[in-house]
Amino acid sequence: MSFEFLASTLRERKQAGLLRQRTPFISNKDGVVEIDGQHYLNFASNDYLGLSQHEQVLQAYVEGLAVYGSGSGSSPVVTGYSGEHKALEDDLCEVLNKPAALLFSSGFAANQAICHALFGDLNARHRNSTVNVNAVKAAAQDHSSHILCDKYMHASFIQGALETSAKLRRYPHNNMTQASKMIRDLTEDSLIATEGLFSMDGDAGDIAGLAQAIKTDTRKHKNNRPWLMIDEAHAFGVVGKNGFGSLDLDSVNADQVNIVMGTFGKALGTSGAFVAGSKALIEYMVNTSKHYVYSTANSAAQARATRASIALVAQGEQRVHLHQNIELFLALAKERGLPLMPSTSPIQPLIIGCPKLALICSQKLAELGLWVPAIRTPTVPKNTDRLRIIINAMHTPKDIQALVDGLSLVLAEFLSNTTTRLIRCS
Ligand SMILES: *Cc1c(COP(=O)(O)O)cnc(C)c1O
Repeated sequence: MSFEFLASTLRERKQAGLLRQRTPFISNKDGVVEIDGQHYLNFASNDYLGLSQHEQVLQAYVEGLAVYGSGSGSSPVVTGYSGEHKALEDDLCEVLNKPAALLFSSGFAANQAICHALFGDLNARHRNSTVNVNAVKAAAQDHSSHILCDKYMHASFIQGALETSAKLRRYPHNNMTQASKMIRDLTEDSLIATEGLFSMDGDAGDIAGLAQAIKTDTRKHKNNRPWLMIDEAHAFGVVGKNGFGSLDLDSVNADQVNIVMGTFGKALGTSGAFVAGSKALIEYMVNTSKHYVYSTANSAAQARATRASIALVAQGEQRVHLHQNIELFLALAKERGLPLMPSTSPIQPLIIGCPKLALICSQKLAELGLWVPAIRTPTVPKNTDRLRIIINAMHTPKDIQALVDGLSLVLAEFLSNTTTRLIRCS
């Protein structure tokens, strides 16, 4: 039979406890998700600030629908680019203090587009395309370009990086000693990338450390320093004095960060993404990025809603609630001795170390009315299968107490040695 691997792969995944299954929800509001007639406290959503349900965001969306209709109708380079999209780009330039910004339909597309823009598309070379041909030629001739990034960089970036002719190298997670050494080996036109907040561990990328390593790098290409890029998917709206991410932190010198990529589908509560950087970079992407040129723009109504989210982030009310909730969770978890990782962000992983056991813990928590997903390999490294708890601004102190009680109960029952021995993990 053709494509026999489809069914056999799924069978294998199921046996190993690694099959992914989707669960359609009925409603998802105010920190509570309703599935199959049951209500659960939602500790899984990236809607950190609850903005996807915020009245002002919904109102802006509705106004946008009335003015522009529901769809953009075409690519941004045809007639899909409205004044509302332009205004959103301008808002981004202002809050990030960058000269130019460009909208993408997803963060996945944006990360790929960045890699392709800077290093050419490997496939384009094979097909002898005229797009990006100079960049591809330059890179292909001597394999001179490098992409250096954190080991835990998101799959969308890694995938994009692998599709270019640049050499991809990864340093151990947040290890600046290794990163500094590897920076010395970089040749011309190289990119270094990290994340503002890591999606699986909830810790911050060492942006200041990378910037310092670039600055003190004494190799011969003094006027051809590598560019630094940050993926702010989880940080934008959550981190920084004004909530606009890592560039807002005192420790980070914003001028040393050449490219900022972020998404709207997490803390901003809508969807889509942006790339911000130099005028030349953005103009180049408008002209050459296939992910941009050959994809229908997100709706203008959505752009308007996202602008309302940005205004709410600037006001900061939800962010205060979020951080109060995180502090409460950390205090209660400490009292109970829950083995959390060192994260002070909304992302709070609890390592279980085996996919089947992580799944069982997640199911037991669901029986207690707590929705806490199991994140398993290959999304996370082997033997670090985990419960990924996400705290949001909508949770009440009672919700957080219930979470900590539930986690204590389930961990006491299922992490005892006898149980672990009974479950074959691999
Ligand atoms: C979610 C995420 C993306 C992808 O963004 P989408 O808009 O969901 O496609 C990229 N990078 C990181 C770190 C993410 O967490």
